[in-house]
Amino acid sequence: MQGRVIKSTGSWYNVVDKNDKQYSCRLRGKFKISGIKVTNPIAVGDYVEFELEKEDVGLIINILPRENYVIRKSIKSAKEGHILAANIDQAVLIVTLTKPRTSLGFIDRFLVTAEAFRIPAILIFNKSDLYDDELLESQKELSKIYEALGYQTLLVSAFNEQDQQIFYDLLKNKTSLISGHSGVGKSTLINKIAPEINQKTQEVSSFANKGVHTTTFAEMFKIDRNSYVIDSPGIKELGILDIEKEELSHFFPEMRALLGKCKFHNCMHLQEPKCAVIQAIEQGNIALSRYESYMSILENEDNRR
Ligand code: GDP
Ligand code: ZN
Repeated sequence: MQGRVIKSTGSWYNVVDKNDKQYSCRLRGKFKISGIKVTNPIAVGDYVEFELEKEDVGLIINILPRENYVIRKSIKSAKEGHILAANIDQAVLIVTLTKPRTSLGFIDRFLVTAEAFRIPAILIFNKSDLYDDELLESQKELSKIYEALGYQTLLVSAFNEQDQQIFYDLLKNKTSLISGHSGVGKSTLINKIAPEINQKTQEVSSFANKGVHTTTFAEMFKIDRNSYVIDSPGIKELGILDIEKEELSHFFPEMRALLGKCKFHNCMHLQEPKCAVIQAIEQGNIALSRYESYMSILENEDNRR
């Protein structure tokens, strides 16, 4: 039998099969993941094979290969981690240009993280109803910058019915990681398309419970049969920018595209002569704000936590 883990409560896992039937499963034996020691062998989002023991009780005997996964590194040891979720189709970052304005630095950190985990990222600018002409103009410019890098962007208002439908369509038949600072409208948006979810998350803290990020990703929330959302705390809390400084530019698509074009193969794109990245900035082909984020991430030692 095959199914997907949608909830983990320590030693028991809730698994749903393709007919949407739920099973309580335990794990047989130990599973290892190469490279890093993990405290949980099976995560929410994993596809597993299991044997039925009783009517709706099973034994997990195998994990199918993961498309990707998000891991939280242990603070104590870089060689240890906890898998938060697996097989994520997209990482959706909800931002707003006002009340409260999301910084570009935060957006870029999020995108770098998504790149590092090989999860396609989408940017949703919410609260469009509050944008004046100037903000609308700056949203357009940002959209242009990020779309050029391959990130889909959307401008929505959680109060607009058409936009709610657009949001729903975006999540349909996917497993989405949803992130964003508190106050940007995550619960409002989710609530419009799946009111039951907020009730549930309230119990375990999350979407609706501002500032408290104790979610351990032990559950995926179902929007409909094939659509799930996973609430994720801010990037900082995830502490996942575990990237070597020399490799950071690989996670900026516009810099990655210039790989090998700098004079020095180990160019960090700072003060080196004949740097293709600096040239691209001068020619207006790389946004200054993106480069500023790059430098800020480089400088910030906290990223390596
Ligand atoms: P969360 O912390 O990201 O879950 O944010 P909430 O969904 O709790 O929203 C924070 C505040 O912003 C609430 O007062 C919402 O009513 C408001 N809000 C959310 N979306 C919008 C929107 O599109 N437009 C406006 N004007 N307010 C919004
Ligand atoms: Zn360079």
